[in-house]
Amino acid sequence: MRVLVTGGAGFVGSHTVVSLIEAGHEPVVVDNFINSDRSVLGRIGKLTGNVPELHEADIRDKDAMTDIARTGFDACMHFAALKAVGESVEKPMLYYDNNVSGTISLVEALLEADVNSFVFSSSCTVYGEPETLPLDESMPIGTATNPYGWTKIMMEQVLRDVQLANPDWSVSLLRYFNPVGAHPSGLLGEDPVGTPNNLMPYVARVAAGILPKLQVFGDDYPTADGTGIRDYIHVVDLAEGHLAALARHAGDAGVHTYNLGTGQGHSVLELVRAYEEVSSRPVAYEITGRRPGDVAASWADVTMATEHLGWMTTRDLHEMCADSWNWQQKAR
Ligand code: UDP
Repeated sequence: MRVLVTGGAGFVGSHTVVSLIEAGHEPVVVDNFINSDRSVLGRIGKLTGNVPELHEADIRDKDAMTDIARTGFDACMHFAALKAVGESVEKPMLYYDNNVSGTISLVEALLEADVNSFVFSSSCTVYGEPETLPLDESMPIGTATNPYGWTKIMMEQVLRDVQLANPDWSVSLLRYFNPVGAHPSGLLGEDPVGTPNNLMPYVARVAAGILPKLQVFGDDYPTADGTGIRDYIHVVDLAEGHLAALARHAGDAGVHTYNLGTGQGHSVLELVRAYEEVSSRPVAYEITGRRPGDVAASWADVTMATEHLGWMTTRDLHEMCADSWNWQQKAR
C-alpha cells in the first residue's frame, strides 16, 4: 500500500516507516522537522535499503497537504503532533493549533483527495484518571489534566465525527501506553532536545553520566513500592501494531479503537533497576514530590488488539532498556 505518514521522521513515525518498508509498503513521509532530524531519512535508507519519498511540509498547510494527498494514497498514518505535557500548559494555543487545527486541515486534504483509510496516534491519556485497571477501550473517555491530553481527546472526537459523516471512512484510533526503547540497530531512537521529560530518556542520560541523578516523582502512591506504574511498550512492537491495524482495517469502514500496550505495568524503581542491569551502570536517584497531573498507575487491557489484530508485544522491559542504552551510547 502507498501510505502517507505524517511525522514520519519522529520517534514512533520513523520506526513505523521502517516496518512499512520491511513489509513491502510504500510510505511517503511528511514532516516539518520541528522536533525531528533530517538525518532520520538516511538512517531509514541504511536500515531498509530504501529512502522514502519526503515532503517537507506543515500539516496545517492545507493546500500543500492537498497537493501531496492528490498524488494518490491507500491510507494515511498520522503521527505529526506536539507531545510535551509541560510545554502544552505554557503554550496551549501552540498545541491546539498544531495538533487539532493540523489534524483538521490534514483530514480536509484527505477528503478532497479521496483517501479514506486513516490510522491515528492516540494515547492512553484520553482515559484520564483510571477508576479501575486494566484500562479497556469500552471505558469512557476521561478528563485531561493538561492541553496536550485535551488535544488527543479532541482529535479522537473530530475523527469519530468525520467517520460518521463519511461512512466509507476507516478510522483506527490507536491508544498508545508508554512508548520507549529504540531500534535494535542503534540507528533510530528518541533524542529529546534539552532535559528529557519522560522517564526512560532521563534514566538513559543518568546512566551515561550526562545528568547527575533522577528525580523520582513520589514514593507514596498506593503501589507495591510506592512509585508510579506505567505500561511501557517497545517502539518496534508499537510500530508493528500500526501495521497490524493497517492490514486489518484499511478499507474497512468504521471506527476501530485499540489499546497498544503490553498489558503489564512496571514501577519507576523497577525500570531503574532493569536499566542498571542492562547498562552495568548505577542510576542515582532521589525521591521528590509527586508531579502534578500524574496518575498512580496505568496499564492496558490488550484483549481487543490481540483478538482483532492478531498482534501482541514480544519485547520485555529488559529489551526496552537494552535498546535504549544501545541508542544512548551511539555517537550522533
Ligand atoms: N517519572 C519520574 N521522574 C522523571 C520522569 C518521570 O519519576 O524524571 C515518573 C512519572 O511520575 C511516571 C513515570 O515516571 O510515574 C512515567 O513518566 P513519563 O513522563 O515517562 O510518562 P507519562 O506516563 O507521565 O506520560
